[in-house]
Amino acid sequence: MKVVLYDVDSKIPNLALMKLSSFYRSKGYQTLLSKKPRLIPADLYFASVIFNSEKSLNQVERLTELYGDRITIGGTGVDLKTSLADEAERCFPDYNLYAHTQYALGFLTRGCNKRCAFCVVPKKEGHLRPNYSTFDDFVPKDQQNVMLLDNNLLAAPNANDLLEEMAKRQLNVNFSQTLDIQHLTDELYPKLKMVNSVNSRFTRKMIYFSCNTVKQAKWFNWLSDELRGFGKGQVTAVIMFGFNTRLSQDFAILKMMKKLGVVPFVQKYQPISGVPARIPEDYFDMNLDEVAEFRFRSNGQNGEKFFRYVSKLYFNRYGRYYLPILKAIYRYNNKPRLQYYLDRPDLLSVEMYKGYL
Ligand code: SF4
Repeated sequence: MKVVLYDVDSKIPNLALMKLSSFYRSKGYQTLLSKKPRLIPADLYFASVIFNSEKSLNQVERLTELYGDRITIGGTGVDLKTSLADEAERCFPDYNLYAHTQYALGFLTRGCNKRCAFCVVPKKEGHLRPNYSTFDDFVPKDQQNVMLLDNNLLAAPNANDLLEEMAKRQLNVNFSQTLDIQHLTDELYPKLKMVNSVNSRFTRKMIYFSCNTVKQAKWFNWLSDELRGFGKGQVTAVIMFGFNTRLSQDFAILKMMKKLGVVPFVQKYQPISGVPARIPEDYFDMNLDEVAEFRFRSNGQNGEKFFRYVSKLYFNRYGRYYLPILKAIYRYNNKPRLQYYLDRPDLLSVEMYKGYL
């Protein structure tokens, strides 16, 4: 008996598929992982889809063509309601499915009590469930690296105990979904400092907080002493842009992080079903040259995403590219590409955008 598990688009080992693998192995099935939609003779078929992107949906279409209703397809990318059956959900993940040994991954809590308009978690997972599982439910005995998928761990009433346990077990913990700085209380701060928080490669110390609004950026300012206490260059703010902010707001957040010595990591809003981005008509509300001068850390590969976004919006609004922003995009990488625009002056805006002047 054989089960084929299709991982359509996961960037890390897919927890649901690893649990399904354990579940079916315990029933005597052989399980096989496939990352490509191809015909494989088997008794059962499952697919997991994380992103609602065109590429992922094309793969879903292909799988449906291949298997019709013989395949069960779930995951945030296609459906917010389907979840694993309880018995499968409780299984210890089968890390062998991916021959994965670098870290364990799982949730200690599920859900979130906040209702951020751009977030799929409240719809998908509902209210915060503090005692969803324990480390023993997903961490192999000899594994010290743990990637947590919790969405708002610091908001959990048992956060104190969970942080204590991480420190006591001397785990290296990656808070992959970021922490909510608004829940960094006087009580939790010393506990969180005791945890060895690391980056997603488990190669160096790093702690991640989300910053989705200007209001949240103010919390970073209020808690600047605490953030410094985590160590120089060891705090990253994962900053969302492209949902409902104006340029001056995006820029205020970036400047705030720079002032505080926090590493900015920008992420464009990925529209969730029924919630399109709401970029204000008057997005360009400040001096664009000042924005173009902003320096992200290192070679700026991540920062280029933000400049590209600004450039594209500018082009859509004004029908031209703004040269200083193009220069910022190609400041460190792919430099020869700038020449393409320099050779086409008709594509370039020669003046500051009118809205600001
Ligand atoms: S963005 Fe974070 S805090 Fe807001 S609803 Fe989602 S998980 Fe909760």
